[in-house]
Amino acid sequence: MTTKKTESINRKEPGYRDLKERLGDFKEVERMLTTVEVREQAARCMSCGTPFCHGYACPLANIIPEINELITEDRWKEALELLLSTHPFPEFTARICPALCEGSCVKGINEQPVAIRQIEKIIVEKGFAKGWIRPRLSLNRRSESIAVIGAGPAGLAAADSLNNYGFKVTVFEKELNPGGLLLYGIPNFKLEKDIVNRRINLMREEGIVFECGVTVGRDISFNYLKKRFSAVLLTGGTQQPRDINIPGRELKGIIFAMQFLKAQNKKIIGEPLAPGEDITAEGKKVVIIGGGDTGSDCLGTALRQGAKEVYQFEILPRPPELRPEDNPWPLWPQIDRVSSSHLEGGIRRWSVTTKKFEGDSKGRLKRLQCMEVEWLHKEGRQVPVEIEGSSFMVEADLAILAMGFLGPGPDPLADQLDLKRDQRGNIAVDANHMTEISGIFSAGDMARGQSLVVKAMADGKVAADSIKVYIDSEQQERS
Ligand SMILES: Cc1cc2nc3c(=O)[nH]c(=O)nc-3n(C[C@H](O)[C@H](O)[C@H](O)COP(=O)(O)OP(=O)(O)OC[C@H]3O[C@@H](n4cnc5c(N)ncnc54)[C@H](O)[C@@H]3O)c2cc1C
Ligand code: SF4
Repeated sequence: MTTKKTESINRKEPGYRDLKERLGDFKEVERMLTTVEVREQAARCMSCGTPFCHGYACPLANIIPEINELITEDRWKEALELLLSTHPFPEFTARICPALCEGSCVKGINEQPVAIRQIEKIIVEKGFAKGWIRPRLSLNRRSESIAVIGAGPAGLAAADSLNNYGFKVTVFEKELNPGGLLLYGIPNFKLEKDIVNRRINLMREEGIVFECGVTVGRDISFNYLKKRFSAVLLTGGTQQPRDINIPGRELKGIIFAMQFLKAQNKKIIGEPLAPGEDITAEGKKVVIIGGGDTGSDCLGTALRQGAKEVYQFEILPRPPELRPEDNPWPLWPQIDRVSSSHLEGGIRRWSVTTKKFEGDSKGRLKRLQCMEVEWLHKEGRQVPVEIEGSSFMVEADLAILAMGFLGPGPDPLADQLDLKRDQRGNIAVDANHMTEISGIFSAGDMARGQSLVVKAMADGKVAADSIKVYIDSEQQERS
């Protein structure tokens, strides 16, 4: 059945599972649109002459208008093939991508954008359900081996491309399982771990080797890598969280967001927790410092664990509901976003700075002293200025720091090789993702700084292409 292009259908969101039900588990909160609803969304696509979703916004350059056209004609398998021609793992972004494409959808100028992420989700899930997504076995095996260090989205995307080119690929990962932040950072209620494992199993069947529980640079040396591999790709992510240097920081009960999220994810995948790693918000008063997505993930996790109350504080002012004039289409809209976790509970506050942590006689966190700030334009930039008399206290026995990351931080292999860093502490690379050392590449958050899954994957793919060019040219030089 073909869905006719129609002007009368609005954007449709699938919505979330019932609030009470979803707070009682860690399962995926977002529902799926039906096949009919997805076809209707695809039919809203205007097949623009210059599709900004595809050419400008999606880092993977997904061919969105053509995919939509195929869906309206019920040609699901072809739509899947077209999606997979640019995108290695749509099942991840279909759940957790902010959908940069939708921010630039031409339909979004006057109406609501097409629900592109939802279309992606049903295509890929149909692909798995119908058995269309199967291990792809590379027919042209090559003799060269490549080492990928770090099994997050950047490393996985690179490994996938390199394996398709015929190289022998080994992915080293310091954690016990591959997935990076897909597995250990992003909560199960946004991306179920079975979805990650389903892909890893497929990659194993395709011939990619995963060596987990190995910290490269500590457990194995560069000399070992040099002997065994023709090229090395570093995709270790951003490991250094931003800290807060205020009185009382040393108190017990102040932790980084990743400590908190990782503990919960490890429980879900059944990994043992090291002593002191089992942190829970159960029965606690929790303050999350940081109003971004990671903070929102901590909020949803704390509520599910049974926190008594949860605050989320952000130093920046609340973003506007609609695009401001200096943020026009097709730029990504810098607007206030409400996540599924925000709808579940907790109190959000903006323009709040934390001045001090206070504890009890046993050195345990008891409260935070905070102040409101106003943002003033000074010397050409916006600066926070504390508002006199706005000081307030909030009781807490758990404070979670979710203020972003400061790059890869110390890294055993990069430090061993004394690899050059850029101004922000990321691994410095050229346009081909090569570091200053020939044959050593870097991609994903480790080279670009804290970012998004879709950007890490796009980087991984580009780095894989550059590695192929590098190895081919080395071969030509030798022959
Ligand atoms: C809590 C949280 C939630 C997020 N939610 C979203 C979201 O909803 N949507 C979105 O698009 N983005 C999200 N992001 C951002 C996204 O997860 C990252 O941008 C993305 O995972 C980066 O991919 P990567 O492969 O570069 O690094 P990572 O995913 O960090 O993977 C790096 C891997 O390298 C391993 N490693 C590091 N050093 C070594 C070593 N020496 N030896 C062996 N292994 C090593 C690490 O253990 C890790 O597994 C979130 C980030 C966080 C922290
Ligand atoms: S990967 Fe993200 S930006 Fe690209 S099409 Fe999918 S939802 Fe849109």
